[in-house]
Amino acid sequence: MKFKIIFSLLCIVATLNTGCKTQASINTQNAAKANADQTPKNIILMIGDGMGLTQITAAMISNGYKLNLEKMPITGFHKSYSSDDLITDSAAGATSFACGVKTYNAAIGVTDDTLAVQTILEEAQDAGKETGVVVTSTIVHATPASFISHNRNRNNYEEIAEDILDCKADYLIGGGKKYFDRRKDEKNILDEMKKNGYAVSTFLETDPENVVVTPGKKLFYLAADGDPLSVEQGRNYLEPLSMKVINALSQSKDGFFLMIEGSQIDWGGHGNNIKQVVTETIDFDKTIGSVLDWVNKNGETLLIITADHETGGLAINPGSTMDSLVVSFATTHHSGTLIPVFSAGPGSTMFSGIYENTDIYHKMRHALKYPKRTQPKILNVSAKK
Ligand SMILES: [Zn+2]
Repeated sequence: MKFKIIFSLLCIVATLNTGCKTQASINTQNAAKANADQTPKNIILMIGDGMGLTQITAAMISNGYKLNLEKMPITGFHKSYSSDDLITDSAAGATSFACGVKTYNAAIGVTDDTLAVQTILEEAQDAGKETGVVVTSTIVHATPASFISHNRNRNNYEEIAEDILDCKADYLIGGGKKYFDRRKDEKNILDEMKKNGYAVSTFLETDPENVVVTPGKKLFYLAADGDPLSVEQGRNYLEPLSMKVINALSQSKDGFFLMIEGSQIDWGGHGNNIKQVVTETIDFDKTIGSVLDWVNKNGETLLIITADHETGGLAINPGSTMDSLVVSFATTHHSGTLIPVFSAGPGSTMFSGIYENTDIYHKMRHALKYPKRTQPKILNVSAKK
């Protein structure tokens, strides 16, 4: 009799336990679905150019086996290939995020047949959001250019600079002054930017740490004549200027879209320079830490962090310790490995799983509840040769 009662009790406990577990997983699923249905007011897309899993791991080990990136709640992967090459370049990679199209390497915001496609930044701007771009390359470089201009070829820097004149973004920060004011056609695009309502300032008058970002006042800040310095050479503006821009954008009534790029992780990969890979990734991660703190407090912002591709085919080899890495690079170019995606905030659960790089664009639009689109929106502008 006693045995029977104990056995029954055990059965009840077991049933309750199983029931609770089922309920817990249902709750998790419901929470994920509820999150996916939420509409963020703002989107911040952070791109670590050339930042594959090994770049992240190397930076993590070099930083006491810790990165701010670990605080991101949702992880996924994207397939980075372009339309004409399994190994994408930064132009096709950024265009996939910005425009939702697979296109050829070197394409800046254009389709495979060179038609200009509306970017998510341009669409957000048209929908009343404020927008910004903060990068550590020149502002005409492939990744930023793919969000704010349209060109058949990434190397047409002066044409891209002229196109940025019409981009309407509120805050633009990066290098590349010479493409605006010392051009072959002798135009001064900086003067034109002023006519378009921008406060234009450059590294010649203002150090990055002293740049003032005023809500509601368009700003174009050029941090260098060509490429900005590397972290090792003393560049330290990505975190403070990103946060100044976020604070200004947060005053926007209808929200904002901001793209931040840690551009030079890629350059460390091309140079097979592990020190540059690590210092640039840690600099990007420092920015991630501040942005994520702000996003968590704000509660209305979808944050997505990813890379366009991996650079260098980096490996961490036997013989490595926590204090010293033994690495090798398989190439001085990009590689074709899957790329991690990290997300947080309303709509972030949509970014788990494995999907195309173009789906990052589609998921962002879905989160913003922009009307479904089966074809890219072709703009009535010619993407210059
Ligand atoms: Zn590259």
